[in-house]
Amino acid sequence: MGTKYIFITGGVVSSLGKGIISASIGLLLQARGYRITIQKFDPYINIDPGTLNPYEHGECYVTEDGFETDLDLGHYERFTGIRTTRDNSVTTGRIYKTVIDRERRGDYLGKTIQVVPHITDEIKRRMLRTDVTGETPDFVITEVGGTIGDIESAPFMEAIRQLRWQLGRDAVCVHLTYVPYLKAAEELKTKPTQHSVKELQGMGIQPDIIVLRTERHLDDAMRMKVASFCNVDLECVVQSEDLPSIYEVPVNMQRQGLDAAILRKIGIPVGETPAMKPWQDFLEKQRHARREVHVALVGKYDLQDAYKSIRESLNLAGIYEGAKVKVHFVSSQALTRDNVAGKLSGMAGIVICPGFGQRGIPGKILAAEYARTQDIPCFGICLGMQMMVIEFARHVLGYADADSSEMRPDSPHNVIDLMEEQKSITQMGGTMRLGAYACTIRPGSHTSAAYGGQEEVRERHRHRYEFNNAYREEFEAKGMLCAGTNPDAALVEIVEIPTLRWYIGTQFHPEYSSTVLHPHPLFVSFIQACVEYGDVEA
Ligand code: GLN
Repeated sequence: MGTKYIFITGGVVSSLGKGIISASIGLLLQARGYRITIQKFDPYINIDPGTLNPYEHGECYVTEDGFETDLDLGHYERFTGIRTTRDNSVTTGRIYKTVIDRERRGDYLGKTIQVVPHITDEIKRRMLRTDVTGETPDFVITEVGGTIGDIESAPFMEAIRQLRWQLGRDAVCVHLTYVPYLKAAEELKTKPTQHSVKELQGMGIQPDIIVLRTERHLDDAMRMKVASFCNVDLECVVQSEDLPSIYEVPVNMQRQGLDAAILRKIGIPVGETPAMKPWQDFLEKQRHARREVHVALVGKYDLQDAYKSIRESLNLAGIYEGAKVKVHFVSSQALTRDNVAGKLSGMAGIVICPGFGQRGIPGKILAAEYARTQDIPCFGICLGMQMMVIEFARHVLGYADADSSEMRPDSPHNVIDLMEEQKSITQMGGTMRLGAYACTIRPGSHTSAAYGGQEEVRERHRHRYEFNNAYREEFEAKGMLCAGTNPDAALVEIVEIPTLRWYIGTQFHPEYSSTVLHPHPLFVSFIQACVEYGDVEA
């Protein structure tokens, strides 16, 4: 069987969960034994979201090969277990850059460069690539960011229109829309969906399958209405109702035959419905998680999407420990010496979040101090780990002016310092220490126990600053251990205080590699410590 292509577009409004639907389709096809890959095309002009503020774009997710990408790639990895690369995430900026670089090289000498065909050809080339995860997949799932009708998504739609024509039955278009419920009229409305499909048709694309996001159950008459107004078979109109967990979405889609509809459209025998045993086992655990564990997330962005992978990693780890993790966002900017106990004392655990820049730094240091002195399980991630180090230097080593050279370049005790290879860097985009690096784990440490005795692990990074090795001996002598180091560069990747319950900071981001079926061992171990320390029967 040659490679088949599934295109996913969205209409009516954004934030409908196109990424979750794309990831669910991937998972359902995997369960039928197919090899899949999923890629995201984002219509904005930035080369990657690495320089975007989380308020603009939510979390920046990092691939193993060190590319800063959209957070939907996190859903793809968590749902399907695939490992994405820089080729799975493409923006308008990258498309234009490739075309403009070619133009400067002289590849098009004599020709006028235009959106059609030059930009659309480059989009098509990338949409058709089949080697994105190393081996040829049976299905390439392509999600296009944004909403139908956006000016900047037009070239992507034109590329899909052309590909549909070129690929015939080897391509399927899935369109995700929203059916609002009008409370005053007590009615669900399909009109926005009809308009959205008309807009798509106006661009020459007839959707094969429509997924309706809805807060209330749609009866068959509603689905029939959508089918007949939009020229789609009734069995190809699927509803995605609000569910208690995003991880219920794939089985709900399977129940309604979304994967079967895709296969039928392409002309592949549907066969038996797979049991999805491992996934169902996970859902059973989730449904029966009885305990509640309260974890503080100390960060500066009070926004669900800003720490998406951390929240999901905590939830997933909790489920494996039979616990619902209740995450309490604590604004680092609002933390003071007077209110820190009030905000953190009831917590079973504290996570100190990654980040950049000065805002909220004193609060993160206070949280690290509170967790250390009260012996509350505490997990510092990237900037969070750096704050643990600074706090320890200030209050245990006695360097009251200890700092990171990110916050105070002239600090006399820069226990966190700019990495050597970063000193000559002037460009901001894509130049941090990015992607997976090896880390040797110190035998006998808490970290080693958390990793189940693994001697070497690979974890993903995104930072410019690092632990200053000049202070290493002093830290170790006073009780903060370097529990993980990079074998090639001797960079300190993990610190811990072994005399405390659970006090570990990682320079890397373990949250990027937690998946539904394989939660990250550090998160599992952290949640175990939280449950032991402060669980409450629900
Ligand atoms: N700002 C810090 C650095 O660049 C930490 C980055 C992060 O938390 N991802 O080193």
